[in-house]
Amino acid sequence: MIARRLLLATLGSILLSSCAIFQQKETEPMCQKTLQVVAGSHGVDRVRLERRLQHLFSFIVPMTSPQNCEDTEVHLRIIRPYGNKVHYGELNRGTPNEIDIYMEQYASLDDISEGWIIAHELSHFTHPFFGKKHKWFTEGLATYLQEITRLKAGVLSKKNMIDNIKNGFSNGYLSYPAGKTLAQISATEGQPSIYPALYWGGAALIYQWDLELKKMGTCVPEILEKSWRVMSQKSSHESTAYFSLLNRLSPAASFSKIHEAAHRDDRFPIAPYVSFDASFVNGDGLCNYEKSFSFRSDRLREDANQL
Ligand SMILES: [Zn+2]
Repeated sequence: MIARRLLLATLGSILLSSCAIFQQKETEPMCQKTLQVVAGSHGVDRVRLERRLQHLFSFIVPMTSPQNCEDTEVHLRIIRPYGNKVHYGELNRGTPNEIDIYMEQYASLDDISEGWIIAHELSHFTHPFFGKKHKWFTEGLATYLQEITRLKAGVLSKKNMIDNIKNGFSNGYLSYPAGKTLAQISATEGQPSIYPALYWGGAALIYQWDLELKKMGTCVPEILEKSWRVMSQKSSHESTAYFSLLNRLSPAASFSKIHEAAHRDDRFPIAPYVSFDASFVNGDGLCNYEKSFSFRSDRLREDANQL
């Protein structure tokens, strides 16, 4: 269910992101299992960086395409233009895939390996390539998974993950253009100022989808894993067919609900204040990253009264 949006009194940091995705044929499977740092890791221990990224990627690989693709590699380039304070990444799909991440000149090993950018770009391997269409879904999914996968990999604490999501939703809410649906925002060439609304608005829908799935004993990562089992290399990865597949795999039409919301609702998907029960479950299963998130309607009302 879509909660009413309410005004917000706090402002966290604005995340800027850009993802240029191109070069991949619609029918190519995504099956990257290995990471190689091929250039640009000036001043950073490349072996340690590769080891860390491989560890992080190991939590994403189960959500990518299945076996038969072990020989495909992801090449990572780290480019640090002097004085560039904007951090972002680009995923260029092809053979090999390339990920460029743009960091500060003196970014540390921790900055690179534990930051959201690399987790975000790697998370794009969990869905087919749609070009620039449907960014509410592709960017929303990667934005949501960048937090979940870092938590599972031990890179983020539970508190930091929760703070990141709260701040992200807040930023998305504050920058949301009135009167536009997420699908409409996706269809336009947005300025960087629109990214928080698009990325975190999409993430909010994915989060809602996850909430619904968890009530039924499954979760978004598990649905993604199942989707790749169903799709063969010859399957169409066209968006309509893919969304239809996600809907079939999602109990109670939970995916179609967020898909419809992206095309219907002209405001940020959820209220900015979210409380997390944080009853995290230990284990290796795809769904074991948290037990339940819940909205706090009392807090929402208090905030509304203060404004
Ligand atoms: Zn992205």
